[in-house]
Amino acid sequence: MSSHEQLVALRAPNSPKKPNILPPVERTWKFDDLLRDDLVRERWEKVQRFFFLRESTYDLTNVCNLDCDGCFYFQGDKQFTKNTSDPEAWRALMREEKKRGINFVVLAGAEASLVPEIIEACYSEVQLGVVATNGIKKIAEELAYRIHVSVWGNDESSAKTRLGKGLLPKQIKNYAGDSRAVFIYTFTRHNIAEAPAVIEELAKNDCRSTFSMFSAPVGYTGTLRHDAESLAAVRATTLDLLERFPKHVLFSHYNAVAHTHEKSMYELFSCPYPRVNKQANLGIGKTFRGYRTDLSWNMDASCCVPDIDCADCRHHASGTAIVASKLFRHATDPDTFAAWLDYVDVYLAHFVHGYEKSPNLCNKPVAPPGFKLMEG
Ligand code: SF4
Ligand code: SF4
Repeated sequence: MSSHEQLVALRAPNSPKKPNILPPVERTWKFDDLLRDDLVRERWEKVQRFFFLRESTYDLTNVCNLDCDGCFYFQGDKQFTKNTSDPEAWRALMREEKKRGINFVVLAGAEASLVPEIIEACYSEVQLGVVATNGIKKIAEELAYRIHVSVWGNDESSAKTRLGKGLLPKQIKNYAGDSRAVFIYTFTRHNIAEAPAVIEELAKNDCRSTFSMFSAPVGYTGTLRHDAESLAAVRATTLDLLERFPKHVLFSHYNAVAHTHEKSMYELFSCPYPRVNKQANLGIGKTFRGYRTDLSWNMDASCCVPDIDCADCRHHASGTAIVASKLFRHATDPDTFAAWLDYVDVYLAHFVHGYEKSPNLCNKPVAPPGFKLMEG
């Protein structure tokens, strides 16, 4: 058996195969009545202008300059595809993507900044998008994509879990004050207490941040997976940081609820991505594709975090589709609708370069529709 076949065989069959059936929700308000409040109506109109976005994701290279524990790129078989190093091939792909309605590109793994000529080729065709990077190598300023710089704790933790030394100073040097950059602090079970100092350091250097949760790849057996205690600790920490750094932390109470609930986002909201929603005939379920480095794509792996276990999915990028697509489910009462608007505002602020976050409308925890709020 080749190492590739061994890895595929090791993958536990625990990603759900059937669409998740959600509990019904009680609808006590009409939609027009929810919009009577001026602030709510303005926010609805603000976010609604971006409903035209149609995204797909693209693995630009299978090479990385770090080696992170639990990296979902280096799980499953996508890591073994051949690189396409000719920028013209990417330019041609982008042209085809535009023809099928894609107008927002997520350029990712392994480490996109190592292939700047491919980012440039993509940008020449599609100017809306995000580049996910570990921030060690700066992406040229003329490429005006949103840039997600991944942070997994302070330098001591990063040295242990990412095998990279002195990461934060390098990331800050490259992206301090850069309007494109949003630092994504990924909470594992072990780096919660150090987050305040890291976020403070980022804010001091005029770097904005938001939060993601370590979400275990299928078959993951390491120690970073969250438990009830760590979920509660992350919830308290993120809300404290939101209060302390309102200009530099892009987050809301509902983000904290959705991403730190004991149930995964798949269980709370179901998921629109083709990987688990193969019958979709509209929206992201119909148009989303996850391209590999050889420009192939596979519906069974087409979600923004392929190879993550749906039963543990709390990743910030998944939520942008999972929660944001659930307008109807959240348009039930003023608090739930305001919480959803905050969530979508956070999503757009950390995905669309130039979109600015407004003050949150709902500054208290609201339960996900059909479920109880977590204690803690
Ligand atoms: S930097 Fe990103 S792609 Fe590279 S090993 Fe870490 S998580 Fe994986
Ligand atoms: S986004 Fe999350 S819930 Fe959806 S298919 Fe991917 S891992 Fe599963």
